[in-house]
Amino acid sequence: MQFEDLHLMPEILKALKLRKYEKPTPIQEKVIPFILDKNDVLGCAQTGTGKTAAFAIPIIQRIQKIEGGHDKPVLRSLILTPTRELAIQIDDNIKAYSKFTDVKHAVIFGGVKQHEQVRKLKQGIHILVATPGRLLDLISQGYIDLSTIKIFVLDEADRMLDMGFINDVKKILKLLPQERQTLFFSATMPEDIRKLSKKILVDPKRVEVSPPSSTAEAIEQYIYYTNKPDKKKLLLHILKNKDMDHVLIFSRTKHGADKLARFLKKNGFKVAAIHGDKAQNQRQKALQLFKSGDIQALVATDIAARGIDIIQLKYVINLDIPNEAETYVHRIGRSGRAGKAGIAISISDPEENAYVKDIEKLIKQKLSTVKDNPFPQTDKPMTAEEKKEWNKEKQRRKKEFFANRKKQRR
Ligand code: AMP
Repeated sequence: MQFEDLHLMPEILKALKLRKYEKPTPIQEKVIPFILDKNDVLGCAQTGTGKTAAFAIPIIQRIQKIEGGHDKPVLRSLILTPTRELAIQIDDNIKAYSKFTDVKHAVIFGGVKQHEQVRKLKQGIHILVATPGRLLDLISQGYIDLSTIKIFVLDEADRMLDMGFINDVKKILKLLPQERQTLFFSATMPEDIRKLSKKILVDPKRVEVSPPSSTAEAIEQYIYYTNKPDKKKLLLHILKNKDMDHVLIFSRTKHGADKLARFLKKNGFKVAAIHGDKAQNQRQKALQLFKSGDIQALVATDIAARGIDIIQLKYVINLDIPNEAETYVHRIGRSGRAGKAGIAISISDPEENAYVKDIEKLIKQKLSTVKDNPFPQTDKPMTAEEKKEWNKEKQRRKKEFFANRKKQRR
């Protein structure tokens, strides 16, 4: 199928050509016609499938058809997404696809001063991309009125609930007109997400581009079993031997991410870290350096990595095994985007072996164990020193977990 077969307007086809998209991805083939036909959509799709374009393109087309050429833009579409990075990413995509139309758009998110965002809103926009907190804040100040919305998108719904945004989402839903089109996307469909979707969708078209919680087929997945104290040495071995010049490395904690970035720098790698304690402009700068290839490696925590979208990203490394199997699926979805081949490498210590089992159960496949491993896992007990260090790390993680939870609830 070609984009032309989806009855897209010339202004959009031209923008897609400029972006060098050759043909629609499977989710785009399915979802674009549903949205153009004004249906509600329940989409189960991982990142990397092209889902942003799948909803952004038809929204732009519908707005251009109805509102194009009018004087003052009226807010017609709200796209709610959990993180700032993702919000910026979506807005960037909208900017590219709407380049040759009259559609105006803006993005708002917390952690930065509101002045610039308010200025943009005052000029008038058709599409607003927002994170929940800043949206509610600007609504309460009278800068945004949702009563004119026709199309509402809830993106990454599962992550939204994981991050504790359910009450904010409920508040926002109350402010939207009853009569509207709703598009609901989630990478996974656990029970609470299904329930929420039932509440807000009317007779939706269901679209699933790969089964829930399965791993993108394009990604090769490897695992090294090692001991905790050897993890970083093993990481160096992997980075040096596999000729990796562009790799995203996950670390569970902010502290761990910083420590790892320092360690890699010391060993001659160009690297940056992004996590929740970094200022927004620092995060954007690090992402930019990574995207442009000025640094080889980006160390990220899960929340900060959400929304990272680099087409050529081939390698993802998990220095820690996430204790929630679904987080693993999110992490490795960063590689192999839009049909490109990706490679995910995970490093497990004995305490994490059980998490690996959970992951294999969820994705219904075994990760390939790498035999060429200079630091294989032994069952030797930790030394007193290692144990002390490990206990300290555990305390740190616990503190960070509760601090994060508190922050998210705020
Ligand atoms: P997403 O799943 O929306 O995060 O998109 C993943 C990546 O695929 C982004 O970098 C998009 O720019 C890219 N992409 C989306 N649609 C297409 C397409 N039809 N052809 C090539 N790349 C695409």
